[in-house]
Amino acid sequence: MTDQTKTDIVLKGIGVSPGIKIGRAYLVDGGSLETPAYCYLDTTYISSETKRFKDAVHESKDQLLKIRNKLLKDGKGKEHIRIIDAHIMMLEDKMLIDDTIKIIKKEKVNAEWAIRMVMKEIREFFDSIDDEYIRERGSDIDHICDRVLKNLMGKKHEAIAEIKEEVIVVAHDLAPTDTAQMVKGKILGFLTDIGGKTSHTAIVARSLEIPAVVGLENITQKVNAGDTLIIDGASGLVVINPSKKVIKEYEKKRGQYSDYEKLLHHYRKLPAEMQDGRRIRLMGNIEMVEEVSSILDHGADGIGLYRTEFLYLNRKDLPTEDEHFKVYKDVVEKVSPHPTIIRTLDIGGDKFLSQMELAPEMNPAMGLRAIRFCLKEPDIFKTQLKGILRASVFGNLKIMFPMISGVEELRKAKVIMEEAKEELRTQGVPFNPKIFVGAMVEVPSAAIIADILAKEVDFFSIGTNDLLQYSLAIDRVNEHVAYLYEPLHPAVLRIIKHIVDAAHNSGIAVGVCGEMAGEPEHALILLGLGLDQLSMNALSILKVKKVIRSIKYSEAKEIGEKALAFSTAQEIERFIKGEMAKRFPEEYS
Ligand code: PEP
Ligand code: MG
Repeated sequence: MTDQTKTDIVLKGIGVSPGIKIGRAYLVDGGSLETPAYCYLDTTYISSETKRFKDAVHESKDQLLKIRNKLLKDGKGKEHIRIIDAHIMMLEDKMLIDDTIKIIKKEKVNAEWAIRMVMKEIREFFDSIDDEYIRERGSDIDHICDRVLKNLMGKKHEAIAEIKEEVIVVAHDLAPTDTAQMVKGKILGFLTDIGGKTSHTAIVARSLEIPAVVGLENITQKVNAGDTLIIDGASGLVVINPSKKVIKEYEKKRGQYSDYEKLLHHYRKLPAEMQDGRRIRLMGNIEMVEEVSSILDHGADGIGLYRTEFLYLNRKDLPTEDEHFKVYKDVVEKVSPHPTIIRTLDIGGDKFLSQMELAPEMNPAMGLRAIRFCLKEPDIFKTQLKGILRASVFGNLKIMFPMISGVEELRKAKVIMEEAKEELRTQGVPFNPKIFVGAMVEVPSAAIIADILAKEVDFFSIGTNDLLQYSLAIDRVNEHVAYLYEPLHPAVLRIIKHIVDAAHNSGIAVGVCGEMAGEPEHALILLGLGLDQLSMNALSILKVKKVIRSIKYSEAKEIGEKALAFSTAQEIERFIKGEMAKRFPEEYS
C-alpha cells in the first residue's frame, strides 16, 4: 500500500516500449488467485468435479471467442487475433485437459487444485528453458489457467476494453487477451510486476506504441487505485505520486520526447541514404506476422530477420508444411515488394517439444541448437523449407540458416533444401528455384572462415547477440557476467570487420541483425565498418535512419578505422559518444 504522505517514490523496471505519460493508476487484478484445495474427495464428487472443470474450459473458450469476434468486427485487434487463437488452442491441449481430469480422478482432488498441479508442471517445464523468449511463453499457460480458475470460482474477468477514462494500467501481469483489447488513447501506458523484453505484453506494447514498463516486481503492492503515476517507457522508470516539481520536469521531458518523435517521423519516407549517396538496407526484425505493419510504418526497407520459432510454440504438435506456407505467404505478401529474410528454426534441443525425448544438456547454448537440431531432424527441417519455398513465388523471399559453424554444416543444410525443391518439383508445386540463401555468422569459427563460407552463400547476416556470447565467452542470459557483454570490445569490432571484408571480397552483401544494429551509437561504427544492411526492432528504425542520413560514407569509414585502433571498449565508447555529440549536439549535451 502506498504511504499517502510519501511522494516521488521511484521504481525501476524494464522499459519495453518508450514514451512518457502522466496519469491515474487503474489496478487490474491483485495478483494470483487463492485456490481452494480439497483432498480425498468421495468418489461421488469425482464426476461432478470433472464436469465442473469441463464446463469452465467451455466457458473460457466461449469468452475468448467473443473477444476474438469483437476484435475482428472492430478491425482493431486483427494483429493480436493469432495470440488469442493460440490460447484457444491451448484450451484444447490434451496435456492440459486430460492430465487435469486424470489428477481429479487419481488424486481425488477438486478441479481448482488439479488444474493448479498441471499448471505447475507445465510451468516448471517452461521455466527450465534457457531461451528467454521461449521461457516467457510459459506466461501464456498462467493466463489461460487463470481464466479457467476464475470461471471455476465464479470470479469476474476485468474488461480492459470497457475502461472509459485515460488511465495507466497496473497489473501483476497482463494476458495477451487484455493487451489486444487496449485502445490507444484510453490506455496511456501499462506497468506490470512480471515480464521481460520478449514477453507478449512487451511485443504488443511496442506494436501499439503504448509506453510500458514490465518486471517491476511489486508495483501492484505499492500503488493504490487513483494514485498519480509517471511512466517513462524508455528508461524503465516509474514515479508514484510525483511532487509538482517532478511532474514539471517530466512534462518538459515529455515535450522534448514528442518533439523528438515528430522530428523522427519526418524520416519515415526518406531513404536510408548516406550523404554521399551510399544506400543502406534498413530492415526490421519480427517474431510474428503482426509486427510487419509496425516495421513498415516506421519506414523499413523490408524484414531482415524473421525469427520463426514463434510458430512452434504453445503447441504439442509440429507446424505442418501448409501452416508454414500460409504464414510465410502472409508475411511476404505484406512486405512485398521489399525483401523478407526468413531464418530457419533456431531452437535448442528438446526445449520445445516434450515428445522429442532428447537428453538434457549441460550447456544448451553450445548444444543441439538451431541448424544442428535441424540437421539431426531433417524431416522437421524439410517441412519448414518446403513451406518457405512454396511462399517464395509470392514475393521477394530469402532463407538464412542460423548458427552455422563450418562449411560442411552449410552444405548439408543446402542438400536438404535441394531435396525439398526436388519433392516440390515432383509434386508440380511452384517455387523460386533461385531463392537467395544466406548464413548467419554468429559462431567465431564461421567468422574466421568467412572468406570460405562467402563462396557458398548469397549473403551474410551477422548475429551479434550470439557472436558476442561465443567470442567473449559471456553467457548472454547470465546477469552475473552481463558487465562483460561489450558490443564495442575491440575483438568484436575486428571480427565484424573481418567478416565484412570477406563478404565484399566475394561480392556478397553483409548485414547485422543482432541488437547492436538498433543502437544508434553502435550503428554509426557498423556503417564505418562497411555493413550493407542493418536489421532491428521497429522503434529503432528511425533513430538509426537519422544516423545514416547524418554522415558521408567516407567520414563513417574514418570513424570505423579510428574505432578499430583503440585498445578497450571504454575508449571506443568515449570516442563514439564524442562523434555522436558532434552530429547531434541537442541529444548529447
Ligand atoms: C543474434 O544472435 O544476434 C540473432 C539475431 O539471433 P538471436 O538473437 O535470435 O539468437
Ligand atoms: Mg543468434
